[in-house]
Amino acid sequence: MDILALNCGSSSVKYQLFDWKRREVIAKGMVERVTVGDSFIVHEVPGRETYREEYECPSHETAIHLIIKILADAEHGVVKEIDEISAVGHRVVHGGEKFTRSVMIDEDVLAGIKEVQHLAPLHNPPNIAGIEAARSVLPDVPHVAIFDTAFHQTMPEHAYTYPLPHEWYTKYGVRRYGFHGTSHAYVSHRAAEILQKPFNELKLVTCHLGNGSSITAVDCGKSVDTSLGFGTVPGVLMGTRSGEVDPTLVLYLMDKENLDTKLMSHILHKESGILGISGISSDLRDVEEAAEQGNQRAKLALDMLCYGVRKHIGAYAAAMGGIDAIVFTAGIGENSSTVRKMVVEGLEFLGADVDPEKNNVRGKERIISTDGAKVSVVVVPTNEELVIARDTKELIKV
Ligand code: ADP
Repeated sequence: MDILALNCGSSSVKYQLFDWKRREVIAKGMVERVTVGDSFIVHEVPGRETYREEYECPSHETAIHLIIKILADAEHGVVKEIDEISAVGHRVVHGGEKFTRSVMIDEDVLAGIKEVQHLAPLHNPPNIAGIEAARSVLPDVPHVAIFDTAFHQTMPEHAYTYPLPHEWYTKYGVRRYGFHGTSHAYVSHRAAEILQKPFNELKLVTCHLGNGSSITAVDCGKSVDTSLGFGTVPGVLMGTRSGEVDPTLVLYLMDKENLDTKLMSHILHKESGILGISGISSDLRDVEEAAEQGNQRAKLALDMLCYGVRKHIGAYAAAMGGIDAIVFTAGIGENSSTVRKMVVEGLEFLGADVDPEKNNVRGKERIISTDGAKVSVVVVPTNEELVIARDTKELIKV
């Protein structure tokens, strides 16, 4: 039984096809420049050379047609007939308060996703376009929605409410939602398995550190706080997003620099964070290299990132009344031994300590804390597509 996991962005469609019996990815790829012109697909099948084809995709529908065509292609494909695809799982960025878990898509669900799209105006519309396109290309199979926000719907009211006039909560849905939920859910489950402890008894802090980053407190299997909020700017500094800033400073700068909301939003999302501080790049590899060569601003960006993550771990340990393990994932968390070391240095008082030899690892599951440390530190590569496929399989019950 094959399950297709789809992730539709505004100008890209990423896909992975799973052979669910073998829990294996049999093909994956991405259509880029969808709706913008000069689109192309990059298609990978394990053990074969990567295939690339230029193909004009003026809509998400053409992009999904192209994906299906290539998956069933005699030369580049992996299935004989398209009906070997039994179900499609769709990543949806925002589920508001409406969706607290993955759901089978029907007309009501689609209407519900549209109802909350004002909360993620850049992300939900392409997700919806992808669902509509995939349902028209594959009308006879079940489609399932998996929400980035759903895992965080267990946060208590005192953690998700903003200290603003309360009527704005009811009027506009103003509250902390959090993101990267599928990643936090996946790595927290895996960490429990790796540590051979019951998931429902562990206090974990999961650090998803990539271009976008968020830290989550997972208390006995539930997200109880997370660093991203109503939007995707708060928390620790990210590739180009600022992380937490004093809101009065935003108002002050808009005044001083004569910036409208659109420009200010662009600066907070695209010109701040690691890029804004280092002045070099949003890519941490470049910044680590420059810091090593003595660049002070690169060093400052690195120090700010690690300090921010450490502060969140401390806060969440306090929020949960203890901590059993710290989990690192995503591009930076999985690969940067420097960041992991710098984050955990200073957390010895909690009982966390990293073994430098074990910490010398990239992109692999490993416990990197010293033997006998009270708080375990674990690296777990994230796998959001696997969660999409797994939830899809569970919901279609075949
Ligand atoms: P996204 O949020 O776009 O999914 P990723 O999870 O792929 O991002 O993370 C991208 C980040 O991971 C970049 O800042 C990149 O520099 C960083 N990264 C990837 N590999 C390494 C590495 N070997 N060392 C340090 N940072 C790395």
